[in-house]
Amino acid sequence: MESKDVVIIGAGAAGLSCALYLKRAGVSFIILEKGAPGGKLLTIPHIDNYPGLMPLSGSDLAMGIYQSALNAGVEVSYGDVSSVQKNEHGDFIVDSGDESYLAKAVVVATGLSNVPSIKGEKALIGKGVSYCATCDGPLYKNKVGAIYSTGDRGLEEASYLSNVLKEVYVLTPDDQYQGSERLLESLKKKENVIFVNSAKLTEIKGEGHISSIVYQVGSKESELPLDVFFPLLGEKSASSFLSPLKIELSHGFIDVDSGCASSVKGLYAAGDIVNKKLRQVVTACSDGAIASNSIISYLRDKKKEAGL
Ligand SMILES: Cc1cc2nc3c(=O)[nH]c(=O)nc-3n(C[C@H](O)[C@H](O)[C@H](O)COP(=O)(O)OP(=O)(O)OC[C@H]3O[C@@H](n4cnc5c(N)ncnc54)[C@H](O)[C@@H]3O)c2cc1C
Repeated sequence: MESKDVVIIGAGAAGLSCALYLKRAGVSFIILEKGAPGGKLLTIPHIDNYPGLMPLSGSDLAMGIYQSALNAGVEVSYGDVSSVQKNEHGDFIVDSGDESYLAKAVVVATGLSNVPSIKGEKALIGKGVSYCATCDGPLYKNKVGAIYSTGDRGLEEASYLSNVLKEVYVLTPDDQYQGSERLLESLKKKENVIFVNSAKLTEIKGEGHISSIVYQVGSKESELPLDVFFPLLGEKSASSFLSPLKIELSHGFIDVDSGCASSVKGLYAAGDIVNKKLRQVVTACSDGAIASNSIISYLRDKKKEAGL
């Protein structure tokens, strides 16, 4: 089994920032990513609130963060982590496919992923049901689509879709769409964007490809024929692989102290997976840097304890 001081799980903004700081401090670590370095950022059309940079695409920001890590000498390894547990010496064993790693500390930076929860959703993923408008919207040029969401993320996605699709329905469970005034106002001006408030989604229908969604507003049930649908309210933290540690989670999110340390000694968390109020790129990068700093002290104390 390969042994490292630290295993970082996830190479999004948080994991890459942590890796950058650990590399500069000369700590031995591996960073495991099951998809592509950059994480969620790769799916975001437009970022205009990252301090110090002019508005840019999520992919460009992801590439910038990744490049900073590469320049520092970080190498991202492929790995889909399936479990994290402790051995009798208090070290972590991180399993990823056929590989296992032994580590003194682990950083969980796995962000959020979509968990299908609506009737019919799972069977139609990739068949007109998608979680990324930028990736899949262009496949449905001049067709009819809808998103089910709340907050600015949904508005960003709807804004992108409004330039591609013939009609975009924006369904939200709230009695008024909750999002920033600026984004809402600009979307409301678009003739091809139709808001449906207080909508409770009950089913996604289709044989081999989506054909419609069914929703209720109050007691009235409606069926909306569609070519593509983005149900964005099913995002959950990607933390199921932590179950062997018996760590207590808050709705799947990890509680951490001001140093990004969890209640399990040696286990740190950074980015969207953390139980916190603001999930943004800037807070993900910040968590990564803070976690690295805590880990450096943790490893130093461990060495001292061992008389090294
Ligand atoms: C549509 C949308 C618009 C947004 N707009 C903005 C914006 O304008 N400004 C802003 O600041 N923020 C925005 N955000 C939020 C921002 O994208 C996130 O807060 C940030 O990217 C989170 O980074 P992260 O590193 O915590 O997680 P992620 O970027 O999700 O990275 C986690 C990584 O972990 C990997 N992973 C997961 N599980 C495993 C596993 N078991 N093994 C190995 N790897 C694993 C994933 O593949 C992923 O690459 C937006 C988000 C969305 C969805």
